[in-house]
Amino acid sequence: MVASNPITGEELARLHILGPAEVEALVERSRLAGRSWASLSARERSRRLRRLRHLIADRSEEISEAVRAETGKALGEAIGGEALVVCDYLHYLERTAPSALAGRKAGTGSFFHRRARVSYEPYGVIGIISPWNYPFTIGMSTVATALAAGNGVVLKPSEYTPLIGVLIAELVAEATGYPDLVLAAIGEAATGEAVVRSGVDKIAFTGSVEAGRAVMKAAADSLTPVVLELGGKDAMIVCADADVERAARGAVWAAFLGCGQICQSVERVYVVESIYDQFVQAAVGQARRVKTSDEPEANIGSLIAEFQVKKVEAHVKDARDKGARILLGGRALQVPGHFFEPTVIVDVDHSMDVMKDETFGPVLPIMRVADEEEAVRLANESEYGLDASVWSRDRKKARAIADQLDVGTVLINDHLINYTISGIPFGGTRNSGFGRVHGLEGLREFARPKSWVEDRLALRNEPHWFSSQGSGEEMARALIDLRHRRGIFRRLKAGVRLLRDLIS
Ligand code: NAD
Repeated sequence: MVASNPITGEELARLHILGPAEVEALVERSRLAGRSWASLSARERSRRLRRLRHLIADRSEEISEAVRAETGKALGEAIGGEALVVCDYLHYLERTAPSALAGRKAGTGSFFHRRARVSYEPYGVIGIISPWNYPFTIGMSTVATALAAGNGVVLKPSEYTPLIGVLIAELVAEATGYPDLVLAAIGEAATGEAVVRSGVDKIAFTGSVEAGRAVMKAAADSLTPVVLELGGKDAMIVCADADVERAARGAVWAAFLGCGQICQSVERVYVVESIYDQFVQAAVGQARRVKTSDEPEANIGSLIAEFQVKKVEAHVKDARDKGARILLGGRALQVPGHFFEPTVIVDVDHSMDVMKDETFGPVLPIMRVADEEEAVRLANESEYGLDASVWSRDRKKARAIADQLDVGTVLINDHLINYTISGIPFGGTRNSGFGRVHGLEGLREFARPKSWVEDRLALRNEPHWFSSQGSGEEMARALIDLRHRRGIFRRLKAGVRLLRDLIS
């Protein structure tokens, strides 16, 4: 397999594609390393994750250049969206994992002479399959979470960014002292499927809905649990009382950042009629200033490959054919690479692909709505449910609208930044997938809860066991009366009955 630069076409490396047997061998090596890693305390694992953070910070320029080389991103996106986001997340993990994984006590209900608790155990080996759009951020954050919980990892990076996968494994090896803890399985979809079928203990997949479905089907054969982080079609609702200039600036940023190749990119804007014209004018003005080029200081870089250009062009054409107006952009740049003009489209509706399917390009479609109620209805009318944002000066009203949105994350007067707030879970509803990354919920995806019950007080013959007096129905009646029925006298009498039974 050839790793190449999407802008220049330059060959960066040739890599061997792994088949099923080779993937299984990686899983076994990672399993061995993982056992030793899991025997370290959560605190010690955290200490090594801190080393990893420092290492990433020290090498952040090199990492960002490596991301740029394989994805064609602008430098600011690579440093901010990849190196910084990962360092921030690792910092969160270091501080949170030891207590989050320390286990907890649990109540014992009617069995007051027992003791119960929950411990959080590693699964073993996690198979992580990642996409190309944030190859370092998604790959490394998921890897680090699995490691914090005591697992080994086999990482299948995207075929467009294999070198970032190799780099992640190298950085982990250097920081943790375990060369086999995270191993990269290089290849295409077939290697991904081999990972799913390799005997790993859990799969964390990030990618398209179509591939997510295939992963889940393959995982069903061995009942391997899966976390699916899939596509999005994020909506932005601009209320009549929004700060229009600010909302337009926010929309342009959240639609074009990463060249629109973010699962949480704003891909639909619903603007209330009374401010619609003003918003469109401001958005076009802002979008005109967005610099697209291969210069490091550009605002946005290249699309990943020709197939993305074709998809964006098809969405623009479909919209135009159905009556939409392209106010800005709409074409690929005639330069080496896969650059596409920042594009603003109006007069759109839900019959158009650009309002239904994930575009994953620098396209901002703006739709006029009568009121916020219509905006909410349309925002929820999607196969996806990743994030949505509400823009208003009235926080109470914005919260009430956000409450009606059927998505994994709602934002008020901003978009996208939730992914960088490490303490909150990230994930979607409907076809955007299930399971979570980030936050305590994301950490616990990689830890199997194990329940413990011990005796606090051991009786020779437990009242709930078989006895010559029957199968404990009297005790069950007494417990129902004592614990669950109303009336202090009834409860007292039940307590006396229970004590008598226990003593006799
Ligand atoms: P993709 O589904 O084509 O590929 C993702 C990964 O899955 C790659 O490593 C690929 O080789 C592998 N793969 C493909 N088919 C497979 C199969 N049948 N079995 C096992 N592995 C398989 O996605 P992509 O084009 O790399 O990424 C873009 C998609 O990812 C978009 O839909 C985007 O919204 C989504 N995404 C989602 C999130 C999220 O957190 N929800 C984040 C980033 C990207």
